[in-house]
Amino acid sequence: MPRLITRLPADDRTNGWSALLPKRTPRPPLEGEHSFDWVIVGMGYAGIAAARRLAELRPHDSIALVDSGEVGENASGRNSGFAIDLPHVPSTSAASVEQGRRAIRVNRFVMAELEKQIVAHGIDCGWARRGRYHAAVTAKVAASALDSYAANLDAWGEPYEALAGDALAARLGTPYYHSAIYTPGTCLMNPAALVRGLADSLPASVSRFEHSAVIEIEPGGAAPYVRTARGRIRFGKLILAVNPFAQSFGVFENRQIPMLLFASLTRPLTSAQLAKLGTDPSWGITPAHGVAGSTLRLTPDHRLLIRQGFEYSPSLSTNEARRSAARAQHAQLLAGRFGHLGHLGELEIEHFWMGWLGISHNHAPAFGQVSEHVYAAACCNGSGIVRHTAAGRLIAEHALGEHSELADDFLIQGTASYIPPRPLRDLGVLWTIRREQASGKAEV
Ligand SMILES: Cc1cc2nc3c(=O)[nH]c(=O)nc-3n(C[C@H](O)[C@H](O)[C@H](O)COP(=O)(O)OP(=O)(O)OC[C@H]3O[C@@H](n4cnc5c(N)ncnc54)[C@H](O)[C@@H]3O)c2cc1C
Repeated sequence: MPRLITRLPADDRTNGWSALLPKRTPRPPLEGEHSFDWVIVGMGYAGIAAARRLAELRPHDSIALVDSGEVGENASGRNSGFAIDLPHVPSTSAASVEQGRRAIRVNRFVMAELEKQIVAHGIDCGWARRGRYHAAVTAKVAASALDSYAANLDAWGEPYEALAGDALAARLGTPYYHSAIYTPGTCLMNPAALVRGLADSLPASVSRFEHSAVIEIEPGGAAPYVRTARGRIRFGKLILAVNPFAQSFGVFENRQIPMLLFASLTRPLTSAQLAKLGTDPSWGITPAHGVAGSTLRLTPDHRLLIRQGFEYSPSLSTNEARRSAARAQHAQLLAGRFGHLGHLGELEIEHFWMGWLGISHNHAPAFGQVSEHVYAAACCNGSGIVRHTAAGRLIAEHALGEHSELADDFLIQGTASYIPPRPLRDLGVLWTIRREQASGKAEV
């Protein structure tokens, strides 16, 4: 039975990262009747990685990569730009340590692959191994989150620096944080430039169609197809790489929770302001309290980024009042950390945007074959630059019936667990988020 896809991504053209880049001409939309061996829906890290892997393994197959918008304007281009090598595991038990060790193998493999692509295709995205500060604002969260993280790093044999007080303030240029653990392996970049570069360097066997929202899908029967406003593709196999929008396709509806995040970039700091910052010329901070805390960066072009706001968004939409409140909160939080750089007006926000992603209850990916001809990879759990590059590559291999140790490592936690349907889900998710936000309210 054909299914209409009614909930589509809407690009509000606010992404700050792509606004800093030269204009790009998107690929033309799909028009007319086509037939491809493979169709991949979604031109983010997952869809692009799936297309690249299929093209490598099946160089004679025809592959179509379709997106409702323009590459770089999606979550893959709107994120905070942390490609993180080290996972966070639930405890310091032997099982968690082993789970983490296997996640590290996957993450490092993927980061090395991304680096190869960046070098081979000259992708100018500012990719730099700057590491990251995993930081707590309060002693309480430092004791609960950073100590166990350090214990896991010790068990994995990973190098790190524990910093606190003045030593940390001297690096970051703010006394706001109680302490942090610095690990050197995270790479920072402009994510819009990275995802654009990855898409634009795909092999010629991958036909790309932008501004081509899939509005109808016939996943089975004698002639499965996807339809857009002006075209239709009959396919042999379909890979859905649409992250939270999988629910619109009727896939992983009871496995994935759609979340809304907000981010801001200031204008470049003046040299006088920079002189009042710390010794690190650019840095990235991830919050020790994952739900309540804020992600921050000082970018190589001297802007401050803040990512704060993590809310349940089953409708995959928001409104102007919520956006304004989130933007005002960003300004206030930046002033709280960097007030000594001058009054708030000087730190003014130049770009403010939002984006959606999917999380699961057990932090595992939603991954696998969903019907005879259809495969899907969703539920990035917030670290999709690396994890969804892996998911895309592996879902392509899975669709070809290939098995690898990398896939075993990727799926070490299993797949996303069942979540009760709405409205029970709404109550459970909202209660959990409120509880987490209350426990971390001093970490914002
Ligand atoms: C504000 C923010 C900050 C983040 N920070 C980080 C970070 O620092 N590091 C990190 O690793 N991750 C981060 N993430 C998460 C990361 O961005 C995602 O995990 C990643 O982008 C997922 O990639 P994807 O390819 O699965 O999905 P997406 O990038 O969401 O791509 C899915 C694509 O599917 C397309 N699509 C959906 N429906 C249809 C349809 N009907 N027809 C055609 N196309 C369709 C969409 O247009 C979209 O382009 C952040 C996310 C946000 C929002």
